Amino acid sequence: MALIVQKYGGSSVADAEKIKNVARRIVRTKEAGNQVVVVVSAMADTTDELVKLAYQVAEHPHTRELDVLLSTGEVVSSTLLAMALHSMGHPAISLSGAQAGIRTDAAFSKARITDIDPKRVAKEMEKGNIVIVAGFQGITEDMDITTLGRGGSDTTAVALAAGLKAKACERYTDVDGIYTSDPRLLPEARKLTEISYEEMLEMVTYGFKAIHPRAVELGELFSVPILVASSFNDNPGTLIHKEVSMEVRNKVRGIAHDPDVAKITVVGVPDQPGIAAAIFVPLAEAGISIDTIVQNASIENITDLTFTVAKSQLKGAMAVVEPISGSIGARECVSDSKLGKVSIIGTGMQYAPGYAARMFDTLKKENINIQLIATSEIRITCIIDEARIKDAVRALHRAFELETED
Ligand code: ASP
Ligand code: MG
Repeated sequence: MALIVQKYGGSSVADAEKIKNVARRIVRTKEAGNQVVVVVSAMADTTDELVKLAYQVAEHPHTRELDVLLSTGEVVSSTLLAMALHSMGHPAISLSGAQAGIRTDAAFSKARITDIDPKRVAKEMEKGNIVIVAGFQGITEDMDITTLGRGGSDTTAVALAAGLKAKACERYTDVDGIYTSDPRLLPEARKLTEISYEEMLEMVTYGFKAIHPRAVELGELFSVPILVASSFNDNPGTLIHKEVSMEVRNKVRGIAHDPDVAKITVVGVPDQPGIAAAIFVPLAEAGISIDTIVQNASIENITDLTFTVAKSQLKGAMAVVEPISGSIGARECVSDSKLGKVSIIGTGMQYAPGYAARMFDTLKKENINIQLIATSEIRITCIIDEARIKDAVRALHRAFELETED
């Protein structure tokens, strides 16, 4: 008998009917001869509503209390699902993250799982129960309840699958798989049958909101295959796993985009040791995360330093950098908040030349100016005007022939 961990997102358990639909799907999986452990998200917009409530009673809600509050959303959906299963004649039990042995550090609202002790889950399975675990939450050494960051139920599911040595983790939402690009932006985007962990991780890190990044990281680390599919139909989903067949490896797999980019340039900086540290250490201390950094080759010992941040962090970053730029002898400090990025991603790129050339040529033909370029082994990212993102994604999708079958 294979053990499968199934995870259902907030849209899949949005109301009573949908919860019953999920219960029927679980029963089907069980009756096909599998053991099932289920992880659920909170119903629909519950988490957003709880956050809103917290900010209505306090300007800065206490982080410990906020995590306990948010964890209740998943408790509600897990208990309702267990009740639905009972009434269909199937023994089931709901467990909170703490009861399921999800241990975390104490970083409220963004806790990381440090350890899993699935004894209770295993015991309930032995008794013949379908175990429903509340996602998105864990417990610290001091028995405080934590949450794992928005969208964190995915991570709970993959972590549990790893801890229980499950055959696979199936992750259901209202989208039936991973597409070559965001289908809402680009209707011709095509569903992939499979994608590697590293490609998926680059996609989600560079703006593709398909799955919680840490879930993919954990999947790779513990070799848990993750099937992404819909709870509303039986369409085949996308398998995130390790091996992707040879043919597929030689192509760009997807185009990610992210409209959340702002740029700061420190102009006319003396090129001497310690300048980058003088700028980036205080930024780090202010909790500002920097994405792309580019330093120009210096001319007569003067250079420009450019970096990007999320739009919401631009004001804070400028407040840190402006006084520093004066004190290190830079000429000025300028910013642009209307940027975005497009990325082409595919493991095949590291073995074959010409991908960068084709990307730049495609953008040139669209008359899209590239402001900054950043790369990894399997990704090329261009920072461009935010208003041109859609044109860029569409042109790149066509140039790399992503609408045709693998
Ligand atoms: N309910 C949480 C959220 O909305 C966690 C999740 O859905 O995975 O972020
Ligand atoms: Mg949610």
